[in-house]
Amino acid sequence: MTDPLLVCAPLRFEARAVRRGLRDSARAAGSGRRAARAAAPAVLRTGYGPARAADRAARLEAGSFRMMAITGTAAGLVPDLNPGDLIVATEVVAVRDGRPDPATAVPIPSAPLLLGELRRAGLTARAGRIGTVDHLVRGAEREALAREGLIAADMESATLAAAAQGRPLAVLRAISDTPGRPLVHPGLVSGGLAALRSLRAAGPVLDRWAAACEARALLLAGPRSFCAGVERAIEIVERVLQQQGSPVYVRKQIVHNTHVVHDLEQRGAIFVDELDEVPDGAPVVFSAHGVSPAVRADAARRELSVVDATCPLVAKVHKEAVRFAGDGYLVALIGHNGHEEVEGTLGEAPGSTVLVETPEDVASLQPRDEGKVAFLMQTTLAADEAEGVAGALLDRFPAARGPGSDDICYATTNRQQAVRAVAAEADLVLVAGSANSSNSRRLVETAERAGTPAHLIDGPEDIQLGWLDGVSTIGLTAGASAPPAVVSEIIDALGGLGPVEADERVTTTESIRFSLPKEVRPT
Ligand code: SF4
Repeated sequence: MTDPLLVCAPLRFEARAVRRGLRDSARAAGSGRRAARAAAPAVLRTGYGPARAADRAARLEAGSFRMMAITGTAAGLVPDLNPGDLIVATEVVAVRDGRPDPATAVPIPSAPLLLGELRRAGLTARAGRIGTVDHLVRGAEREALAREGLIAADMESATLAAAAQGRPLAVLRAISDTPGRPLVHPGLVSGGLAALRSLRAAGPVLDRWAAACEARALLLAGPRSFCAGVERAIEIVERVLQQQGSPVYVRKQIVHNTHVVHDLEQRGAIFVDELDEVPDGAPVVFSAHGVSPAVRADAARRELSVVDATCPLVAKVHKEAVRFAGDGYLVALIGHNGHEEVEGTLGEAPGSTVLVETPEDVASLQPRDEGKVAFLMQTTLAADEAEGVAGALLDRFPAARGPGSDDICYATTNRQQAVRAVAAEADLVLVAGSANSSNSRRLVETAERAGTPAHLIDGPEDIQLGWLDGVSTIGLTAGASAPPAVVSEIIDALGGLGPVEADERVTTTESIRFSLPKEVRPT
């Protein structure tokens, strides 16, 4: 008989803690105490140490389970772990002669999904590499293994994991002892109890992970991810860093993505909200979303060394605002209040520009001359939503003038078309992008308007396993500010839940490139 989930735990008390957690889950699902006992997955006690683990792994029948979870306690190797912390292994590897043996490494791609679910359940969890050792590790040995990139050590996982043979695998260990509270320390009892409590609490999450393990189809929207304006903005910061060294100040997030911002911070960029946080004479980059003339004037007054990463397509909207205002028009800017791009465009002609967010806002416009109304748009709006507001404007002011060419940029339009194509075939759409990314949020709304549930995720950790219930086809796209690497991480993580058949739906291809500002142009 094939058990869907095989749960391995080396010791009796570890197996008991996990078993209780899995029963808690079955009980919460609605079965009574007795039924929960029968419904919970079987937990196999595999024995202590690598020799028993090897023996047990050799006796596991290949067809007897669909996915494997290995649990138990572990020794923490890095100083900031506490007893009871959960470790989700991204890889398990046998340690030979004090070093991880790459030939034995078993990668665990679904680790970010389990990590995110544990954290949402309120548990303290970290992801990292676990080393399987053949003796208890102490003192300097812990430090040496930490230097090898391991965060925890156990005595069975790498050996047992080899038996998964490509099936979905999770390794979840609870820290029982740490460098500051080693096994010989009296803290052992409390540390061990904390670990067992965590293992029990993690049971329902492990159950959800198992329920999410299925073969699926993945439809990738094309185009997706970085646009030319975002690539240019990132390259500008990189070049200023190369030319002038760190720190380089950047006003606001260079693009609205946490991964991009974090990566540039690691390389010496400092993100500030306003110019008064920038020391005199320091280099400062304006973000892709643009700035108002007041900010430029402030930078000039402070004699700051400015490099402007405003996307040329945002700059085009600024110029249109100036032109219309100069010709005596009231400019209705269709956009979202508080967005940096909107603030910058409004600042070009503040006395002549009014923000309109909805068709209802159009009714409150009070132009001096009803024949002199113009409208512009934020570059990252949903096309259908913006057209609704523009339609209301034209209904009220039939002579209203619009932009010379579309303000909603090519990248926004193309990604919305592509997400519509995958939404039509998918049960669920995932959009990679940060919460403050306007164009990413519009992709979620576009998919939802097409009738498919959609979620914005910053990375694989944000995928709630419950979203995957009954989902056999997932559409995947990424906002213009989300790095392609994040898309790859999401694909890898989903692949850890079972075989993924990936296909792409390309609605158009892009070849646009923008030239760099003269300050950073290669000579
Ligand atoms: S989304 Fe459009 S306007 Fe924004 S940076 Fe990219 S190309 Fe420029």
